[in-house]
Amino acid sequence: MTDFVFPPSDPVSLPVVGTDARFPVRRIYCVGKNYAEHVREMGGDTSRSEPIFFTKSSTTIVHSGTTIAYPPNTDDMHHEVELVAAIGPDGVFGYGVGIDLTRRDVQSHAKKAGQPWDRAKNFQQSAPCSAITPASDVDITRARIVLRKNGEIVQAASLSDMIWSIEEIAARLKADMGLQAGDIVFTGTPAGVGPIRQGDELEGGIEGLAPIRIRVT
Ligand code: MN
Repeated sequence: MTDFVFPPSDPVSLPVVGTDARFPVRRIYCVGKNYAEHVREMGGDTSRSEPIFFTKSSTTIVHSGTTIAYPPNTDDMHHEVELVAAIGPDGVFGYGVGIDLTRRDVQSHAKKAGQPWDRAKNFQQSAPCSAITPASDVDITRARIVLRKNGEIVQAASLSDMIWSIEEIAARLKADMGLQAGDIVFTGTPAGVGPIRQGDELEGGIEGLAPIRIRVT
């Protein structure tokens, strides 16, 4: 048995709907600019839209039902509800609903300054994600994706509005960065991103999948 100088962290995992076995999380890939309406609301040009990729640490995952603390060094944390694809040994294992929490003010500064997005995207508790539903149990091709803030719908779209399909995203990631069992992919957000305040309750849902619910304090 390996001896460590201090106890290693527990492995990060997500519940799987219909079984007590959990999905072990390896890396978190995120896709930017995958819904035309959102590209437009961010001031982008959809005619030249290419998906962009960034990453979050697996340790940023937050389980459904968790109350998280409003992060430091931002006055403008935004919600981005997203379909999450969970990769298994034989391709897509299942799907979940994630909220790509973003320090938008930090991101805007980073964009202008040509700096990396890590501080905007990869802060503690920045990746709330639901339980994973096995892909064999559900057809999400045309499912609606919705985010409710304090019970009111603020983001809504059809997954068929995604510019790049899960298969296209997975193929690009596989060729460019490598894709392995345990990797999960936040596949981009539809229009309607906006600020979160302390006390807000967020619920992200996709038809057929387990929801993600968090509260911000
Ligand atoms: Mn996002």
